[in-house]
Amino acid sequence: MSVVDRQEWDVVVVGAGGAGLRAAIEARERGCRTAVVCKSLFGKAHTVMAEGGIAAAMANANEHDSWQVHFRDTLRGGKFLNQWRMAELHAQEAPDRVWELETWGALFDRTKDGRISQRNFGGHEYPRLAHVGDRTGLELIRTLQQKVVALQQEDFRETGDHEARLKVFQECTVTRVLKDGDRVSGVFGYERESGRFFVLEAPAVVIATGGIGKSFKVTSNSWEYTGDGHALALLAGAPLLNMEFVQFHPTGMVWPPSVKGILVTESVRGDGGVLRNSEGDRFMFRYVPDVFKEKYAETEEEADRWYDDPDHHRRPPELLPRDEVARAINAEVKAGRGSPHGGVFLDVSTRMPAEVIRRRLPSMYHQFKELADVDITAEAMEVGPTCHYVMGGIAVDSDSAAARGVPGLYAAGEVAGGMHGSNRLGGNSLSDLLVFGRRAGRHAAEYAAALAGARPRADDAQVDAAAAEALRPFSAEAEADAAHEDAGAGGRPPENPYTLHQELQQTMNDLVGIIRREGEMRQALVKLAELRVRARRAGVEGHRQFNPGWHLALDLRNMLLVSECVARAALERTESRGGHTREDHPAMDRAWRRINLLCTLTDPTGGLAATGGTGGLAATDPTGGLTAADPVSGRIRLTRETTEPVRPDLLALFDKEELVKYLAEEELYE
Ligand code: FAD
Repeated sequence: MSVVDRQEWDVVVVGAGGAGLRAAIEARERGCRTAVVCKSLFGKAHTVMAEGGIAAAMANANEHDSWQVHFRDTLRGGKFLNQWRMAELHAQEAPDRVWELETWGALFDRTKDGRISQRNFGGHEYPRLAHVGDRTGLELIRTLQQKVVALQQEDFRETGDHEARLKVFQECTVTRVLKDGDRVSGVFGYERESGRFFVLEAPAVVIATGGIGKSFKVTSNSWEYTGDGHALALLAGAPLLNMEFVQFHPTGMVWPPSVKGILVTESVRGDGGVLRNSEGDRFMFRYVPDVFKEKYAETEEEADRWYDDPDHHRRPPELLPRDEVARAINAEVKAGRGSPHGGVFLDVSTRMPAEVIRRRLPSMYHQFKELADVDITAEAMEVGPTCHYVMGGIAVDSDSAAARGVPGLYAAGEVAGGMHGSNRLGGNSLSDLLVFGRRAGRHAAEYAAALAGARPRADDAQVDAAAAEALRPFSAEAEADAAHEDAGAGGRPPENPYTLHQELQQTMNDLVGIIRREGEMRQALVKLAELRVRARRAGVEGHRQFNPGWHLALDLRNMLLVSECVARAALERTESRGGHTREDHPAMDRAWRRINLLCTLTDPTGGLAATGGTGGLAATDPTGGLTAADPVSGRIRLTRETTEPVRPDLLALFDKEELVKYLAEEELYE
C-alpha cells in the first residue's frame, strides 16, 4: 500500500482561477472547511490572462441595457443551444457579482461621472464589459486572492491558524476524484515540487480547472489547459456535454512563430479596430450571415458612425460573434487574400490617436512591441484564428452547478458545459466564473453540511490504484523491455511524452480544427486511438521531484480523453453551429437545436476499480482500450438527448421572425 498523506476537509475545490476562488470563498463563508488545489502558483491561474472585461448588464454606458437584453445576446451568440436557465441566472446575477468585486477592492475603470466603465464587445448589443484597461483578469484574481487572505486573517484571529478553514495547496495536481460507491469522497493528487502523493477527503468536490486548449497546436491558452477537470469528471462517471463546440478566437498573433496563437483582445475591435485583407478591403461586410443582417451595418460610413451614436446606427460587422469573424478570416486567407504570415490585418493605428491606443490597450501595445517588433500605434497587426475556449464541458444542473450523476461533484467556470451553447460571447466567461463559482460553492457547502454525520470514505484500494496509475510512466521502460522479450525482436521502446503531445496537437489542429470534414475527423479518431496505445508506454526518466516530463505524461491521459470526446461529438453533429463548422454540412440545421450530445466512458468505473488497482492502464489490457476494428468507437459512448424547451416568458423576449430562424419546427408549434 502506498504511503499517502491524508487530510479531511468539507469541500475541496480543484482550481484557483476565478471560478475556483469564488467557489472557495462562498463555501468558507458558509462555514465549510475548504481546501483549494491548483497546479500553478496561487494567483497565476489562467484567469489572470483575461483582458477585455466582465460582461454584466449594469447599464452604466447605455441606460437601455438590462438582464433581458444580455440574456438575448447570450442565446443569439450560442445559437440557442445554451442551457437557457444558466443564461438567465448569469444575466440576472452578473451585475451583483461585479459590484461585489468592487466592495472587495477591485478598481475598475470609471466613466466620467464616476461609475464603472463598460466597453463594447462582439455580440453584445450595448457596451457591457466592466474592465481594468486590458488587464481585467489580473484585477479579478488579485481581488479574489485578497478576499481569501482576508478570510484567512479572520480565521487566524479566531483559531490562531490562518489555514484552519481555508487552505490553498498550490503547485499540486489532482489526478483522480475518489468515490465511495456512487458518491464523491475526495481527491487524489501529487505535489509538483516534491512528487509526493496526497489525498484530500471531502464529501463535496468542486471542479474548476478551466479549458482544454493545449490539445491544439495554435492556442491562446496557458500550459495549465490540459482538460484535467473534464477528464476527472468523465473518469468519475459524469457526462460531458456538447464537446464539439470549441471556440477559435478570430484574432491571435500569427507572427513570429514562437508566439503564434497568443491572443489579441477583442477590445481592439470593440474600441474601433478594423479588419482588412491584403487588398485593403474591409471584408467583414461580406460575411454577415442572414440571422444577423438586421443588426449590422452595411457600409463603412454606417459602421463608423455607430461608435459615436450607437442608438441610431447599426454595429460594425467586426463585432459579430467570434465564430463568424474567425470563419471569415479563415476564408479570406484561404482565398489568397491573407497577410504575409498567413493572417489578415487588424488596424487601430489609423483609427485612434497613438496616446489613446497606449492608454486603452496597454498590454496589446507592449505585446506587439516586445514580441513582434510592431508598433500598433503606427502599423497594422497581423492576426488569425487561435483555439481559445471550450464551450463543451461537464454536464451540470443549471441552478446548483451539480455534475450530473455523481452526488457530491460540482463544476464551475470554463470546465462546465451548457452556459454558452455553441459559442461564447466575449466577456461572458469572467461573469460566468463569478456567478456559477458562487453557486457551486454554496451548493457544495450545503451538500457537505447535510452529510456531516455520514461522510463518504476513500478506500485504500482506490488510493493505491491512483498511485499506481500516477507512477506508471517511471516503469514504462521496464514494461517496454518486458514487451520486447514477449514479442521477441522488435519490441517497442518507451514513448517520449513530448513527441506524443506534439502529434496530438497537430492532429487536433489539422483534423478537428476550425473547419471540419467527415473524412478528416475519422482520420483523427484513428490517430487518437494510436496515440492512446502509445501513451500507455509514455516513459520518463529521473525522479519524482519537479519532473515536467512526468507531469506531461500524466496530463496526456486527460488530453487524449478530451480530444476523443471533441472528435466523436464533432463527427456526430452533421450541421454547422457556433464553434463547430462542418464543410460538408455548412448550414445550421434547426432540427439539431433540440439535440445535446453527451459523452460518457464505456468503462463506467473510469478504470480504477475494474483493473484491480492499476488505474485502468494495466498491461493486462493489451489494446489500451483500442478496438482495432473500429477505432472510431474508442472509449467514449456518445448519446443524444433532447434539450429542455426554453421557458415561454424567455422566448417572448425575441421577435417571432427571429425565432423562426433558430427553433425546430415542432418547437414553433409548441
Ligand atoms: P482558470 O482560471 O484557468 O483556472 C483553472 C485552475 O485550475 C488553475 O488554478 C489551474 O492551476 C487549476 N488546475 C487545472 N488542472 C488542475 C489539476 N489537475 N489539479 C489541480 N489544479 C488544476 N473571458 C472573459 O470573459 N473576458 C475576457 O476578457 C477574457 N480574456 C481572455 C484572454 C485570454 C488571453 C484568454 C486565454 C482567455 C480569456 N477569457 C476571457 C477567457 C477566460 O479567461 C477563461 O475562460 C477563464 O479565466 C477560465 O477561468 P476558470 O476559473 O474556469 O479557470
